[in-house]
Formats: sequence, C-alpha cells, structure tokens
Amino acid sequence: MAEQAHDLAPAAEVPDRGGSFLFQPVGARAFVTPEMFSDEQRQFFRTGADFTRNEVVAHRDRFADHDYEALRGLIAKAGELGLLGVDVGEEYSGLGLDKVTSMLVAESQAGEGSWATTFGAHTGIGTLPIVFFGTPEQKARYLPDLASGRKVAAYALSEAGSGSDALGAKTVARLSPDGTHYVVNGGKMWITNGGFADVYIVFLKVEGPGSPPSSSKRGTPGSAPAARSTSSGCAVAPPPR
Ligand SMILES: Cc1cc2nc3c(=O)[nH]c(=O)nc-3n(C[C@H](O)[C@H](O)[C@H](O)COP(=O)(O)OP(=O)(O)OC[C@H]3O[C@@H](n4cnc5c(N)ncnc54)[C@H](O)[C@@H]3O)c2cc1C
Repeated sequence: MAEQAHDLAPAAEVPDRGGSFLFQPVGARAFVTPEMFSDEQRQFFRTGADFTRNEVVAHRDRFADHDYEALRGLIAKAGELGLLGVDVGEEYSGLGLDKVTSMLVAESQAGEGSWATTFGAHTGIGTLPIVFFGTPEQKARYLPDLASGRKVAAYALSEAGSGSDALGAKTVARLSPDGTHYVVNGGKMWITNGGFADVYIVFLKVEGPGSPPSSSKRGTPGSAPAARSTSSGCAVAPPPR
C-alpha cells in the first residue's frame, strides 16, 4: 500500500465524514507508514517503551494483587515523562501533539496488559471526553491534573445489562426538588481504574427538566466507587524486549 502514497489526493478534495473511508477508492486518503515518523515521534515511542520495560514490568505481580498504589505511582511517573499529555492542549499543561505521536505512545505501553488498560483508560476514554467536549471551566479544572498524573481518570459506560449498547444504559440523573443538585441512581460495571480513580466520565440519562449534570465529586454521599478495577490481571502480551 505504501507505494500508493504518491497518488494521494489533496485532503480538501476528499470528504472525510463518518465511515466514508469505507467507500473511497484505495489511496484516496492520506495514510501514515512507519517510514514517515519524525525523529520526535520516534523519540516519544522510545521513551514510552523504555518506561514500560524498566518501570512497569517490574510491578506486574502487584497489579494481579490489585495494588492500586503501584498503578497510581506509575501514572504519576508517566506524567513526569510527558506520556499523559500528548492529546491535551498546551494551555492546559499538556503537549498538544499530533495523533501519530498519540498512537505511538499508546503502542509503547502495550507490553503489559494491565498497565496498558489503565494507561489507555486514563489518557483515552477518561481524558479525551473533557478535551473534546468539556467547557473551558471543566478543562481548566481537570486537564492539568490528568496530564501531569496528579489525578487518575476513568470512564463509566457499561452496566450489568448493557455494554456497547450505550442507549440501553439505565443509570439516571434527576434534578433535586430544590433544584440545587442532581440525584444519580444506577450502577456501572467493568470500569477500568474504577477502584481508585479521581475523575469519572459517567454516562447517564437525565430524567425530567434541567440540563445534564456536568461534574460531581468522588465520594459524594450515596456513591460507591467500584471495589475492583478491571485492569488488574490482564495478560495479553509478553513484556517488550
Ligand atoms: C478489560 C476490559 C476493560 C473494560 N473497561 C471498561 C471501562 O473502563 N469502562 C466501561 O464503561 N466499560 C469497560 N469495559 C466493558 C466494555 O465496554 C464492554 O464489555 C463492551 O462495551 C462490550 O459490551 P458487552 O460486553 O455488553 O457486549 P455486547 O455489547 O453485548 O456485545 C456482544 C457482541 O455483540 C456485538 N454487537 C453488539 N451490538 C451489536 C449490534 N448492534 N450489531 C451487531 N453486533 C453487535 C459486539 O460486537 C460483541 O461481539 C471493559 C471491558 C473489558 C474486557
């Protein structure tokens, strides 16, 4: 496929919406091959792979024992190395880099399954909803701590009766009679980092009047964080050599 790169149409000529790539002729869209990686992108991969090899793999037995402090410590170290802020804008203490770097950093963490799940939930589904859809106030409040690893993120969509069928979720939020807060009822399951995260992206339906709840504190009376994280004990690949 790489030999077709010279046939690429200018991006403006190719409408790029939804699943349109399925119907475009081969070679109609720009694509990246490893030969095109920049020195900086390669350096990010090496930094990430060295971190996985030297810091993460040594702790793998602790993951299986549900030792969340080990995972929190590694998130903090990954933050110090700049591995958590690739997709976060510089104005929110991130690096604001490109998607190729983001992909390479994610791949560099893949050598240890439990850690890769924790890392991916934090940087991807836990942080990106705020990057893409957060208000300026929410971004300023959460992103600097997530990009630095001072706080850990989780994403709570799945429930006992629904997983990828997001509209089947039954958790609801209802405005309190005095209009000051929302009362959330429901339960989430299989939430990576659920047992120890600080920031949760929670999917729910709003019943009755009012706009959707925007944020909630961990430990709000009546809420109970998951007792166990789904990331512990995932073994999907040998450690990187
Ligand atoms: C390691 C791990 C970590 C996880 N972490 C999280 C997390 O952090 N947060 C979270 O919310 N959840 C998490 N989950 C749960 C995960 O999101 C769900 O398992 C996933 O959405 C699949 O849902 P399900 O298991 O209910 O399967 P189902 O949704 O029932 O799907 C079963 C099968 O049916 C297929 N299918 C589903 N709908 C259709 C359709 N309309 N048409 C055709 N085929 C269809 C699916 O492709 C799949 O093959 C995690 C799961 C694992 C294993």
